[in-house]
Amino acid sequence: MTLSRLYRLGKEQLSTLPGGEDNSPMEAAFLFEKALGLDWRERFRRGQEPAPEEGAAAFLALIRRRLAGEPLQYLLGEWEFYGLPFQVGPGVLIPRPETELLVDRVLELCRGLSSPVLLDLCSGSGCIPIALGKALPSASLWGVELSPHALEYFRQNLARNGVPNVTAVAGDIFALPEEVTGRRYDIITANPPYIPRGELPGLQAEVGWEPPLALDGGEDGLDFYRRLPGLCAPLLKPGGWLLLEIGEGQGEAVAGLLAGAAFDRVQVVTDLSGLERCVWGQRKD
Ligand code: GLN
Repeated sequence: MTLSRLYRLGKEQLSTLPGGEDNSPMEAAFLFEKALGLDWRERFRRGQEPAPEEGAAAFLALIRRRLAGEPLQYLLGEWEFYGLPFQVGPGVLIPRPETELLVDRVLELCRGLSSPVLLDLCSGSGCIPIALGKALPSASLWGVELSPHALEYFRQNLARNGVPNVTAVAGDIFALPEEVTGRRYDIITANPPYIPRGELPGLQAEVGWEPPLALDGGEDGLDFYRRLPGLCAPLLKPGGWLLLEIGEGQGEAVAGLLAGAAFDRVQVVTDLSGLERCVWGQRKD
């Protein structure tokens, strides 16, 4: 079989995946490159050459796993966030492009600060603190993660991206170690689990492969938002900011929780698709 025929075979199989959009050409191209080491240009140029047996078998095995619902990002083992590479795999939430909104806002808030001190809670892969640490070399950042699996990815991502100003801390955000509580922060960020528990089984099949610990926000999805403002207010410097990613329809409730816990200038912000995506507020002096 030629390289071109092999690619088309994989693409045709992927086009049967359920879901609104047909991403089969893009997904097949990614998996083809992963298995055979040929990017799309090389694939065009060498399309009529016979496919090496081992590479073809590896490609078709990846296609089978993808058809069984495994996320593309886990199969690739890495994914991009804020222009940086992140190792991902079972046990860690895949960084989502929507989360870049929160990073953008933090960078705006940091413009006037010479050496900001930042904390990220529920860090997962570390995508938020690493993106911030890379963009703000003079900042000091800490990221807290409970899951040992996710923390392992966080540490690999620190090494991969070379961000000496970011520290990964193992721990429960509701029992923060002294290493974290021993200083005051300019900004605290979090993308906590926020899916209402009852909605978890109905989500896209791919999300079922991700760790429930990163998704399950309790009965109404708001469990973490009930506790985060009270937890973060005393850790912030006066005038410091708390920025939280939220799920669809949670803006009003989360804004109310921030306003009720000594936060001012509370704002619900929508992402590029017009969905409520972040809530932020400033600690009152
Ligand atoms: N953005 C994720 C999703 O919609 C949820 C992440 C989270 O709970 N923080 O699948």
